[in-house]
Amino acid sequence: MKKLFIVANWKSYETNFEAIQWIAKFSDYNFATLNNKEIIVCPPFTVLSELATYIRKNKLPVRLGAQNVSPFPKGAHTGEVNAEEIKVLGDYVIIGHSERRNEFGEDDEMLKQKVNIAIENGLMPIFCVQGVETCIPEGVEIVAYEPVFAIGTGKPDTPENANDVIGKIKEINSVEYVLYGGSVTPENVDSFTSKKLIDGVLVGGASLDPDKFFKIIENS
Ligand code: PEP
Repeated sequence: MKKLFIVANWKSYETNFEAIQWIAKFSDYNFATLNNKEIIVCPPFTVLSELATYIRKNKLPVRLGAQNVSPFPKGAHTGEVNAEEIKVLGDYVIIGHSERRNEFGEDDEMLKQKVNIAIENGLMPIFCVQGVETCIPEGVEIVAYEPVFAIGTGKPDTPENANDVIGKIKEINSVEYVLYGGSVTPENVDSFTSKKLIDGVLVGGASLDPDKFFKIIENS
C-alpha cells in the first residue's frame, strides 16, 4: 500500500476555541486502520501551540505544520515567525501557496530562502506549484500540485490531468512525493489518490469541518 499524505490547510480560519472544538471532535474517530496515511494539519500560527498540547496529551496520530515561515532566522524581523520557533510545535510547513505568491508577492528567490531555512531547522516543506513550469528549490521532497483554477472553486482538475502533470513534475525534479490540491471533497478524493502517481491531497475548505476531513482521510 502506498504512503499517502493528507494535509489540511486551514488558511486564516479558526480561533483557539474553534480549533480545540475541531480537534476534540476529530479525536473521536478511529484511526486504527489508517497506518499508511500521514495526517497533517496546518492551522494558523496562533493555534499551533494549543493544538500541539492537545495532540500530545491525547496521543493522536496527527502531525502539525505551519502555513508560512520567515525567510530569516531569529532576529529583529517584526511580525515574522521563524523556522526554529515552528519546529518546536510542528514538523511541516507549506511554502509557495498561490495565495502567498499572489497576495504577498512571494517570488522564486524568497521561496528558495524559505525552503532552505525550513530544511536547516528540520522542517519538511510542502512546496506548492501551479504546474510543471513552477521552479522547485533543491531539497524539496514533498510538492503539492495546486492549479489556481481549482482552489476554492468547487471545480477540481480531472484526476487524469492531475496524474499527468504530477508525472511530469516527478520526471523533471527529484521530488519524492507529489500531492494534488484544489476542491478536494470526501466524494472525489479517491479519484485522485487511486491514481498511480498521486501521493496524497492538500485540502483547504473541506478540512475546516472535522467530519468531512476524516471522511477524506477514510475515503482516500
Ligand atoms: C488550498 O488552498 O490549498 C486548497 C486546496 O483549497 P480548496 O481545497 O478549498 O480548494
